[in-house]
Order: sequence, then C-alpha cells, then structure tokens
Amino acid sequence: MHAEIFALGSELTTGAKLDTNSQWLSVELAALGIETRFHHTVADDLPAMLDELRAAAFRSELAILTGGLGPTADDLTRDALAQLAGVPLEEDAASLAHVLACYRRFGRPMPPKNRVQALVPAGAEVVPNPRGTAPGLWMTLPPGAGPDAPGGPGGCTLVALPGVPAEMKPMFRESVAPRLPRGTNLIRVARVNLFGAGESSVEERLGDLTARGRVPEVGITAHEATITLRIVARGTDETEIERQFAEVRRLAAERVGDLIFGEEDDTLAGRLLATLRARGETLAVAEVGTGGRLADWLSEEDDPAAPAFLGGVTENRDDYCLGEPVAPGDAAERVRRQWGATYALFTPTLSAEGDGPGLTLATPDGPVREPYRRVGDSTIARSRLGKAALDLLRR
Ligand code: ATP
Ligand code: MG
Repeated sequence: MHAEIFALGSELTTGAKLDTNSQWLSVELAALGIETRFHHTVADDLPAMLDELRAAAFRSELAILTGGLGPTADDLTRDALAQLAGVPLEEDAASLAHVLACYRRFGRPMPPKNRVQALVPAGAEVVPNPRGTAPGLWMTLPPGAGPDAPGGPGGCTLVALPGVPAEMKPMFRESVAPRLPRGTNLIRVARVNLFGAGESSVEERLGDLTARGRVPEVGITAHEATITLRIVARGTDETEIERQFAEVRRLAAERVGDLIFGEEDDTLAGRLLATLRARGETLAVAEVGTGGRLADWLSEEDDPAAPAFLGGVTENRDDYCLGEPVAPGDAAERVRRQWGATYALFTPTLSAEGDGPGLTLATPDGPVREPYRRVGDSTIARSRLGKAALDLLRR
C-alpha cells in the first residue's frame, strides 16, 4: 500500500512555518507497513490543491491531509475534497453539535463562521476531534468518482486531519491508524553513525552497500560532519528485518568500522562520556574555536549522578587561558590541572586562515596534538571542529 501526505497551508509554502506533520505521519505509517512516496506542501489555493490531490488519487491508495479544516476563508480542505469527489458539501448534524458544544465549553456563542466546520462532502465520514473544533474527514472515492475521471481515481482513501499537531496526532492514533489496512510488509529504519571522513569517501569505501536497488536499501546523509547510514529494511516479520540490519551492520563494520561511533540517536559526546565513565576517567575543555559548543554537548549528554565532564573555559584567543598568557595549545594542560581531570581538550580559533596550534588533547602522559586545517567561521565549521576534538579522544 502506498501513501501520499499533504501539508496544506500558505504558512508552510511561504516559509513562515515548517511542516513537521508529514515527517511524523510518515514514521507512523511506516510502522504500519505503509510506504509514503510523496510529501506535498500546498498553499491555501483551491486549484493547486485539486491538482495535487487528483494526481495522488490516481496513483496511490491512501492520502493523508493535514490543515485547512479551520473556519476561515483560507481553510479549503473540505471544498477540495468535495470537488475531487464531485459531490456537494452537506451539513453534518453531529459535527455541528460538536462545534456548538466546544463553544459552550469556551463559554461563548459559536461565531457564525464556525458553522462551516460541520460541512462534510456527501458520502464522507467524520473523524472525531475530542481536542478541538475541527472534525476530521474520511472519504473513499467510489470508482469513477471525480469530475474528469472516466474509470476514475476510484478506491483511493483520503483522510483529512487538522493542522494543529496536538490535535492531529492523537486523532491519527486513535481513529485513523486502527482503520488502515496493515501492509503485508513491515518497514523499519535503523541508523549507523560515523565521523571522521567526508560523505563521498565514506560512500566509496562502502562500495556496493549503497547501490540503488539493493536489499535492504542503505542511504547516506551528512549533518554537520556526522555521517549517517540509514538502513531501510522491509520484510514480513521482525526476524527477517533483524537479519537485514545485521548484514548491513556487519559489512559497514568491515568497511568503515574505524569511523563508526554509534547507532540511532547516539552522539559523539554521549558515546565518549559513556566510555570515560566506564573507565573512571574525566574530561575538561578549553574552547576557543568552538565557543562553548563542547561544554554544551557534554553537559547535555552527561549523567548528573556520575559526571564524566567536569567543566571548562571558553576564551577568545589561543594564547590566553584562565586569565594568564599560555603558549598556544598549552591551554589544554592548564585546564586539565585546574579541573583535576584525566583529559582536557583544546579547540583553536577558527576565524583566521593558516597555521595555528591545532587541536590538543592533554593526557596524564603529555599532550597529543593534531593539526587542524582552519576552514573559516561558520556554524558548520564550529561543529566540525568540536566533533574532531571529541573524536581525537575517542580514537
Ligand atoms: P484549526 O481548526 O485549528 O484552524 P486547521 O486544520 O485549519 O485547524 P491550520 O489552520 O492549517 O489547521 O493550522 C493551524 C496551526 O497548526 C498552524 O498555525 C500551525 O502552527 C500548525 N500546523 C499546520 N500545519 C502544520 C504542519 N504541516 N506541520 C506543523 N504544524 C502545522
Ligand atoms: Mg487554518
């Protein structure tokens, strides 16, 4: 079974708001074994909505729509569904009673405009919305339905839900998911996280693992220098899915094992802290180029009951630390002693081009220095520098 998801609203197409509903719905559908092939984001524009809905109705069995069920003139989902099916809108008595009851609870009369929220395309069913005024709609197109559909986009089921995530999510779980036919295939996604090489060099080393059409499918994405392998496994049972995951994990370990630091939501900081904690070791930081990012990541991931991150300092130049001049790079050892930590990391300034002190890891046996090629000042460069520092200790 194939699904398409529609995020409706000009606040999305103008860039004022980010569509997060589609992401959430895709994950929910995948868990039911239903594969999403399209995400559509459409303005509050009836012809545009109809164009996209028609295309979806012809090629997919399911379309989930969010947004556009409010009472204002730009809420066009009801009209779009009625026109798609070629049926009139009719007032649904139970929905009107629901909207009226909502306003009684708010302690004010229902504005006349809100009456449109009780309109339902003829033949559609209402999906109850216990948390808001806008009821959802469930409509299956009969064969041959639609104005220009000889033979028609028949059989496609369209489900319209409110845009407000706090209303949409429980409605989907309570009233939509239980009614959807389960796909015969389970779809599961697993992630393996890597650091220390560029995306294309990782891809090269992985060889045929990322080939198109491979089963299971393996994709590569990069985010601020962290590379993630996404394994999409499809199978009729969990054993088959696990077998596919295990095969990819084994091949990835063989080919890029030196770069792998974790799975799923693991971060470099989190994994490093776990290792230090297991060994009874601790870490402090002296940051210039990372401007506090290391302290932020480490404090966020640390276990307050058994901290491995002891603290640190953020300076604005390489040759100054804790109020005193230091030789560039010696900040790490100063901080290590000051905090009584096993290790300390120093990140050099990023803003200048050319030679600098490089990354330094202070250890009980002396410093480990790693040249770091400065690549200008940007959010990504700072994150990359911070991760390179953590990776220096991880290795
Ligand atoms: P209502 O009855 O509350 O008006 P609605 O179905 O008309 O519901 P919209 O008016 O389109 O929904 O959206 C209401 C709010 O929900 C928006 O202001 C936005 O913050 C949020 N929202 C809408 N669509 C999305 C989306 N795709 N992803 C995340 N948030 C969204
Ligand atoms: Mg609206």
